[in-house]
Amino acid sequence: MNEEKRGHLKRIVAQFGFPESETLLGLWDAMVSAQEAGWIAHLPATAGELAARLGEDPQTVVAGLADLYDRGLVLRSEQAPDGPRYEAETNGGVLMDLVLFDRRYLARHGPEFLNAWRRFYNEELVHTYEHPAPDERPFRVIPVGEQVQDRRTALPYEQVAALVRGARRISVEHCPCRTRERACDNPLETCLAFDHVADYMIGRGIGRELTADQALDLLARCEELGLVHVTENADHPLVLCNCCPCCCVFLRAMTVHAKQDVIDASRYRAVVDRALCTACGRCVERCHFGAMALAEGAAQVDAGRCLGCGLCATTCPVEAIALVEVRPPAFIPQQGSGFEALLDG
Ligand code: SF4
Ligand code: SF4
Repeated sequence: MNEEKRGHLKRIVAQFGFPESETLLGLWDAMVSAQEAGWIAHLPATAGELAARLGEDPQTVVAGLADLYDRGLVLRSEQAPDGPRYEAETNGGVLMDLVLFDRRYLARHGPEFLNAWRRFYNEELVHTYEHPAPDERPFRVIPVGEQVQDRRTALPYEQVAALVRGARRISVEHCPCRTRERACDNPLETCLAFDHVADYMIGRGIGRELTADQALDLLARCEELGLVHVTENADHPLVLCNCCPCCCVFLRAMTVHAKQDVIDASRYRAVVDRALCTACGRCVERCHFGAMALAEGAAQVDAGRCLGCGLCATTCPVEAIALVEVRPPAFIPQQGSGFEALLDG
């Protein structure tokens, strides 16, 4: 890498909050040319503004920025009269996802590329996850299928079936976390996107369109595998992930890196009917968060650890576990999808 490219990349990684990260700088070096690094370092701009700013051929910059967008390396913020306005990304987690959704990077760069992302996540990015305020946590757990005790208390965006049935368009993508971490043999193609985000995924060639029935079948298979449904912490979520505790950026942060509070619980908590419980221990094994234990002849829930995912309830052979409402509807921030805003344009 020549000094000019390195200078552009230093500016880019500083915008992510990692000015000294040689790992992130090396990843960017692999992903972009020197000319592309210069463009990204001089955003935000429309292609026309950027071409004028850098004295470059406008048509080359138009095509180049569109290609960077297609590779997940820049965002579009608005439609200006002379075309879309592009912005550099500044969130390391979002960049990691938008790159690792795309299998073309893996084909081009091989295993060392994934190893570098693993180093970046486990040695740098995860250590920035420090106790976000409740309404700043970007994702939350959503209960499995039909487990909420009183279905009338569940809001539409707390029910996976309602999210799927209400979507205009649905796509499925390869999980970027499992792609990066490779810590389990769960299936890769498990991340769902809806509507505007599905348009983006399918448009980039990294998402496969599903019918609602196909998406619901996929969710049922994920529940059987013990994967946790996780969605955006918003009343209009446009992504629905099926997460394992060993790979997911947030669940791994909790279970491997001891970072608590990085993800919101659902509004529900598991409650055991001691009269029904046979102390078989299946729920203890099933819970990824150490929230179930056997005590005095029955399963007991640690309220402080329970995220209200409902996986214990689906595994109980005598239906001794229910999910009960423990937080009011106002617990969920009333805001639109963050991904919709990110991918606008
Ligand atoms: S006890 Fe564990 S498995 Fe059951 S709902 Fe709580 S977090 Fe999920
Ligand atoms: S799975 Fe059901 S029966 Fe078995 S210990 Fe848990 S609550 Fe009790």
